[in-house]
Amino acid sequence: MADVLTPEQRQLNMSRIRGRDTKPEMYIRRGLHARGFRYRLQDRKLPGRPDLVFPRYHAVIFVHGCFWHGHHCSMFKLPATREEFWATKIASNRARDERTTAALLKLGWRIANVWECSIRGRTRLTGDEVITKCQNFLLSEEIMLIDISGVQNT
Ligand SMILES: [Zn+2]
Repeated sequence: MADVLTPEQRQLNMSRIRGRDTKPEMYIRRGLHARGFRYRLQDRKLPGRPDLVFPRYHAVIFVHGCFWHGHHCSMFKLPATREEFWATKIASNRARDERTTAALLKLGWRIANVWECSIRGRTRLTGDEVITKCQNFLLSEEIMLIDISGVQNT
């Protein structure tokens, strides 16, 4: 198939490819590892296959791309083409996230959702604030569910 994407479109596409080893995820992994936290990656036995699993803290961390997970932030914008397709796709991703959250909480896991906009773009948090927030979450025994995002930073 002919390559018809502009460089901007290609970059956009790349940022939308889900999976492991995305830049925001690597940032979180490296930051927490440097602070002595050890984790498992993408445990298939757990609902939603969390990006990072910390058995000893009974906690999981998801690193969410704002586009794929339909975050209400400045990084999310439906593409002008095939808008309906994307709206449906993202609504179904959000519904799946909700089911995953409910299932994990029911099993007694604590959950932090780290949103891309806390790490990249104009709303990103400063320095290693994101890592500190993750650390506080892990060490807390009370926080069951937390969103770490750049939204409060706009
Ligand atoms: Zn966001």
